[in-house]
Amino acid sequence: MPDDAVPAAPEPQPDAVPTVSVDPAQAWEAGPPIVPSLSPSRAGDFMTCPLLYRFRVVDRIPEKPSPAAVRGTVVHQVLEDLFDLPAAERTVERATSMLPAAWEQVQSEEVDLAAQLFESPVEAQEWLASAVPLLETYFRLENPTTLEPAERELRVETTLDDGLVLRGFVDRLDRNAAGDTRVVDYKTGKSPGEGYEQKALFQMRFYALVLWRATGVVPRQLQLLYLGDEQALRHSPDEDELLATERKVKALWAAIQRAHDTGEWRPSPSRLCDWCDHKSRCPAFGGTSPPLPGRSAAPEALRTAAAGTTPAG
Ligand code: SF4
Repeated sequence: MPDDAVPAAPEPQPDAVPTVSVDPAQAWEAGPPIVPSLSPSRAGDFMTCPLLYRFRVVDRIPEKPSPAAVRGTVVHQVLEDLFDLPAAERTVERATSMLPAAWEQVQSEEVDLAAQLFESPVEAQEWLASAVPLLETYFRLENPTTLEPAERELRVETTLDDGLVLRGFVDRLDRNAAGDTRVVDYKTGKSPGEGYEQKALFQMRFYALVLWRATGVVPRQLQLLYLGDEQALRHSPDEDELLATERKVKALWAAIQRAHDTGEWRPSPSRLCDWCDHKSRCPAFGGTSPPLPGRSAAPEALRTAAAGTTPAG
């Protein structure tokens, strides 16, 4: 999808549902209002699959942690802590030695995380060792002894003119002597294939938009470092593309608001479904979505009832 295209919106499609009236007492309750805010991750969820967004944001259904995702968190922790050291001590050996402490830190934030992920301590050790090549790759991509980040794990936030709050966490913000800024994000997976770079850059443009609106200055460079295959994606944004990103984000929020108002959170099957924690409750795979929080039934349940024996009107 072109980066400035309006994302696929879950437009209500009245023709696709039985044209019967539903008992107003049974029908759609307004539901609790939603706070107008978006992060790049949640925006990405909705663009991938509106129903996935619903399960994560509206229902808040917990997901099983995956070893790959948690390893990514541990590596991020090491790369954040690395810059606490004096520059000369930022070596690959030192970074590797920081893995156990980073893993402890990550475990302290979620009860029984190790037990959820691993059958045995040996399995956990092998998994932690698999983070070493990622750190080695990081050191081939850049030399941290020559860097002094201005910020790490920086929480960024701004409110757009229509009240939509944009927020997120930037892995690292560098600032040179001239005051130019560079937004850096680490990815422990592989770089996007040809044609998917724009999708990958959306997250970075989102951060650039937030920083621009919050400070009045467009970041000089956006940099994605892919530790999975030793690739770097760099881009210099300008105001026009950040305005396009702003329009896209607003359109995305309007689509989310429509889905919330109608209760129509449509599944959008793709190859990512193989990794989706919600497949068993997804109608695209024969599952049934739970009723929406604060509402008596999911819209598909109401439609089924209306099309069957439940009296209408
Ligand atoms: S299984 Fe696929 S279609 Fe269903 S919610 Fe997950 S990502 Fe969406």
